Amino acid sequence: MKVNGSCHCGQITYEAEVDPKRVSLCNCTDCQVLTGSAFRVSVPTPAASFRLLTGRPAVYVKTADSGARRRHSFCPNCGTPVSASADTDTPPTYSLRVGCLAQKALLPPKRRIWCKSALGWAQDVSGIPGMERQ
Ligand SMILES: [Zn+2]
Ligand SMILES: [Zn+2]
Repeated sequence: MKVNGSCHCGQITYEAEVDPKRVSLCNCTDCQVLTGSAFRVSVPTPAASFRLLTGRPAVYVKTADSGARRRHSFCPNCGTPVSASADTDTPPTYSLRVGCLAQKALLPPKRRIWCKSALGWAQDVSGIPGMERQ
């Protein structure tokens, strides 16, 4: 599926090709902190199909407890997380943040990972009273 994405302020825009069957929801504690939320939803794209159209992301290199390093790209102006990749200038894939993609409604997660650190209250929010606006 062809997708296009943008950060919140609009400086960074990009397009890519993704496989909707590979969308995953990550419950790891790093994703919770880095998103400021309960979990992160991502989908990989082959580096060859990822095209940055405008802007220049800033990079934060995250070192996991295991020692694994990943480059997290984000907008230097608005802070929106854009993608992550292996810590190399020529990564094979980029993990795109689904919330930034125009097609996000068509990209539900197909698997949940790092479930041990999942926040129980975030696994089913359908019972929480809802309203159209705040
Ligand atoms: Zn931005
Ligand atoms: Zn994670």
